[in-house]
Amino acid sequence: MKIICVGLNYPRHADEIGMKAESAPVVFLKPDTALLRDNMPFYVPDWASRFDFETELVFRISRLGRHIEERFASRYYDSVGLGIDFTARDLQHELASKGQPWEICKAFDYSAAVSKLMPLTDLPPVKDMTFSLKVNGEERQKASASEMLHSIDSIISYVSRFFSLRIGDLIFTGTPTGVGPVKEGDRLEAELCGHKLLDFDIK
Ligand code: MG
Repeated sequence: MKIICVGLNYPRHADEIGMKAESAPVVFLKPDTALLRDNMPFYVPDWASRFDFETELVFRISRLGRHIEERFASRYYDSVGLGIDFTARDLQHELASKGQPWEICKAFDYSAAVSKLMPLTDLPPVKDMTFSLKVNGEERQKASASEMLHSIDSIISYVSRFFSLRIGDLIFTGTPTGVGPVKEGDRLEAELCGHKLLDFDIK
């Protein structure tokens, strides 16, 4: 499986990290070795100075497809959960300033925490989904899927022009404002529509 991620997909997040949202989705991939599941702890790597949390809605692809039209895109996912797109922020800026690919700051081992996924049938329509993140009990991120610049359906349509989608692929849909660094001893808890799906420690 592969993990397809969209960046800069909420209006105020681009501002807070000093980047510009584009008219087409910003897309990057993480390999399957980036997965961190079952609320296992995230161990802060030693090769960069700052690792940020980015809380995101994550959709699971349920059907093989390519060149998917937006109006049919909702047939291609069946469940959703929450993910943390861990990002070595200083390194990201350094790579971006040199015009280099940002894989090493975004796609390293265990950089994609993913919760259990919930069937869409157990949740409100995507546009009404809300999610939030607490760090050490304090709310740091809170958003509605309706704030996304590119909807999940338009993301699926766009990315499927370039990448065939396979059953089990995951799509990270971008983070709202409020990102910040993690440190050893932090506890991250995130809710989707009132269901606590993520609860894990930073070590
Ligand atoms: Mg992200």
